[in-house]
Amino acid sequence: MVASHQLVVVGGGPGGYAAALYGAGLGMDVGLVEKSKPGGTCLHAGCIPAKELLETAAVFQSVGKAEEFGIQTSAPSLDMAAAQGRKQGIIDRLASGLEGLLAKRKITVYSGVGRLLEGRRVEVSAGGGETDPVAVSGEHVVLATGSVPRSLAGFDVDGRRVMTSDEVLSLSSVPRSAVVVGGGAIGCEFASLLSDLGSEVTVLEALERLLANADEEVSGLIEGSFRKRGITVETGAEVRGCVSTPDGVEVALNGKDPKRAELVVLSVGRRPFTDGLGLEEASVELDERGFVVTDEFCRTSAAGVYAVGDLIGTPQLAHVGFAEGILAVRDICGERPLPLDYSKVAWCIYCRPEVAFAGLTEADAREVHGDVVVSKHRYAGNGRAMILGETEGFVKLVAARNPDGSAGRLLGVHLAGPWATEQLGQGYLAVNWEATAEEVAGFIQPHPTLGELFGEAAMSLTGRALHG
Ligand code: FAD
Repeated sequence: MVASHQLVVVGGGPGGYAAALYGAGLGMDVGLVEKSKPGGTCLHAGCIPAKELLETAAVFQSVGKAEEFGIQTSAPSLDMAAAQGRKQGIIDRLASGLEGLLAKRKITVYSGVGRLLEGRRVEVSAGGGETDPVAVSGEHVVLATGSVPRSLAGFDVDGRRVMTSDEVLSLSSVPRSAVVVGGGAIGCEFASLLSDLGSEVTVLEALERLLANADEEVSGLIEGSFRKRGITVETGAEVRGCVSTPDGVEVALNGKDPKRAELVVLSVGRRPFTDGLGLEEASVELDERGFVVTDEFCRTSAAGVYAVGDLIGTPQLAHVGFAEGILAVRDICGERPLPLDYSKVAWCIYCRPEVAFAGLTEADAREVHGDVVVSKHRYAGNGRAMILGETEGFVKLVAARNPDGSAGRLLGVHLAGPWATEQLGQGYLAVNWEATAEEVAGFIQPHPTLGELFGEAAMSLTGRALHG
C-alpha cells in the first residue's frame, strides 16, 4: 500500500523541517522522511553543538580573567564530560521541542532512509533492513538531505587522530595540540574553540587568507588576533596527507615543513549528501560538483520535485536552508514568492572575536559599483566594549557613492568583535532594505551598547562623525 500526502519531505534538517512545518501550517497533509533524528546537522552535529562548546570556551576564558574585574578565583579547570553533558541537554531539549511541533502540526514522520522513485514516490527503508520498505507518494516532494563533511586524499578519518566536525563535537578530552586543516568558518571556529580550551593550535589554509568570503580587513583582523593568542596560522599551505606517529599525526605539506600534533581536524567543506537517494533514476539533475540543480524557486529538473538547503549549491547555512524550505512550499502553493537574494544573506562566525557580515565586501563593492564610501570604527573607543573587557575589532560599512560624492545606499556591513553575531541585525536589515547611509545615520542607538559603533560608522559615512 502507498501512503499519499500532498507534500513529502525527505530529510528533517532546517531545510526539510521548515518546508514541512510551513506546509502543514497552510493546511497541507505532510509526510516527513528522516533517517536519523529531526533537526539535521544543524541541531545534532553543527550549529547548536558547535556554538554550545564555544560558549563553554568563552566561560572558561572569562573565569580565567575574573581577577581583572576584582574577583578572586582559583585557576579554572575543565570537566569535559560535564561540558558535553550540558551540550547534549540543550540538543535534547531543542529536539524534543521540534518533535512536539511536528506532532502538533500532524506531520507524519517516517523513520528510515528515503529513496526517490519515479512519479514523486519515495521508498522508505528502515535502518538494518529488518522490515519491508514503505512506499509514500506526494503531489510534491521536497528533497532536503543536506550535506556531510568532505575528506581529503591522504587523510584517513578514524575519529581518533583524524577527525571531521562530526567527531570533534563529541571530544571527551582536549588534545594537547591540534592541526586544523581549512581556515573557513568551521575551521576558524574549531581553531578558536580548541585554543581557548588549552590546545596548541595550527591552522593550515590553502588560500591566501582565512575566511576567504569575508571582507579582507576582517580576515586580517582574525588572522592577527589568532596569532596574538598563540595560534599558528599558515596560509597558502597545501596539505598532502598525514601519517600516524607514536603520539599523534604528522601532516605533510607541499614545500613546507610537516606539522605534528595529537589531533588533525579536517574542515575542508561539506559535500551534498545524495548517496542512495535515487536521483538519477528519478531524472533529478546534478551539477559537476554533485549539487542538485534547481531554478530560483528550488524546482529541480523532475516535475513536482524541489530541493533545498545544503543539497543545492547555495550558501551552506541553516537559515538559508530554512528560507529555501519556505520558498519551495510557497511556490508549490502558487504564492508567487520573490526569489532569495543570496548576495545579502547574513554570515555569522562564532570564533573569538566573532565575525558577522551581510552584503558586499569592500573589494566586491568596488568591482560592482566602482567608487564607494567606506567607514570603519573600532571597539577600542566604545564604552560597553571596555566594560566587557573586549575591545578588539571594528565595524565597517561600505556604501555606494552618489553622483554628488556623498554616501548613498548601504552595500555591505562587516563586524569583527565582541558579540558581533548578535549585533548584525540592524546592519542586515539596512542592507536588505536598501537603506541609505543618511537614513541609517538617523537611527538613535541606545547607550551604552556595542551597537553605538554601527551608528558612529553610519554617521561617518555621512561626514558627520562625532569620533574618529
Ligand atoms: P541537514 O541539516 O544536513 O539535514 C539533512 C537531514 O536529512 C539529516 O537529518 C539527515 O539525517 C537526513 N537525511 C539524509 N539523507 C536522507 C535520506 N535518504 N532519507 C531520510 N533522511 C535523510 N549554519 C549556520 O547557519 N550557522 C552556524 O553557526 C553553523 N554552524 C555549523 C557548524 C558546523 C560544525 C557544521 C558542520 C555546520 C554548521 N552550519 C551552520 C551549517 C548548517 O548546519 C547547515 O547549513 C544546515 O544544517 C543545512 O540544513 P539542511 O536541512 O540542508 O541539511
